[in-house]
Amino acid sequence: MQLILMGPPGVGKGSQASVLSKKLNIPHISTGDMFRKHFKENTSLGKLAKSYTDKGLLVPDEVTNQMVEDRFLDSDIKNGFLLDGFPRNLAQAKFLDELFERKGIKLTAAVDITADDKVLVKRITGRRVCPTCGAVYHIDNNPPKVAGLCDNDSTPLIQRADDKEETVLNRLKVYKDETFPIIEYYQNQNLVYKVDGMKSIDEVTQTILKALGE
Ligand SMILES: [Zn+2]
Repeated sequence: MQLILMGPPGVGKGSQASVLSKKLNIPHISTGDMFRKHFKENTSLGKLAKSYTDKGLLVPDEVTNQMVEDRFLDSDIKNGFLLDGFPRNLAQAKFLDELFERKGIKLTAAVDITADDKVLVKRITGRRVCPTCGAVYHIDNNPPKVAGLCDNDSTPLIQRADDKEETVLNRLKVYKDETFPIIEYYQNQNLVYKVDGMKSIDEVTQTILKALGE
C-alpha cells in the first residue's frame, strides 16, 4: 500500500498516520521527522536546510526532495509507505511522480482528511498547555480539574502562539492554498479518497481502511 496522507492542522492527521502505519504494517514517512533527524545528525542536507530556516526562509524544494529521495533508498519501503507532510506543493508532487516512475512505484491513494474550518479553529484555539510539565488540555474536551490550572502542578496554563485564532486562521489558509492544486493533481489521476475527519479517531481510521479495501 503506497499512500499519501493529507489533512489540515487540527484534523488529527498525526494520530491517523501512526495508527494506519501500524495497522497496514508500512513505515510512516513524515517530513517533520525527517527534518528533525537530519538536523539532529547534522547531515549535509540538514546543514543546508538549516542555513535557510536560520534566516527564516523556506527550505527550497530541491533540499526537501533530496531528503525524500534518500529516504526511499531504505529497504523498509518495499511493502509500502505512508507519506505525511509531502508533497506540499505541485512541484513536489511532480517530483514525487518522477521518483516513483524511476523506482517502479505505483501510488495507491492520496487520502484527504477533511474538516470544517470552524470546528478546527475551536479544536485548536481551545488547547491549553502547562509550561512546567508539558501536559495538554482542552477547555471543552479535556479541561483541567480547576479552570486554568494544571492538574499535576497547579501551574497556570497557557495558550501557545501557534494555537491563537489569528495564527490558526492563517495556517488553515496557507494549507488550503498549498493543498488545493495537489488535490486537483491527484484527482485527475483518480487517486483521491476524501474522508470526513470530524468523527472519532477510530471511526476515521475505519473509514480510511474501508476506502482502501482493507
Ligand atoms: Zn503541569
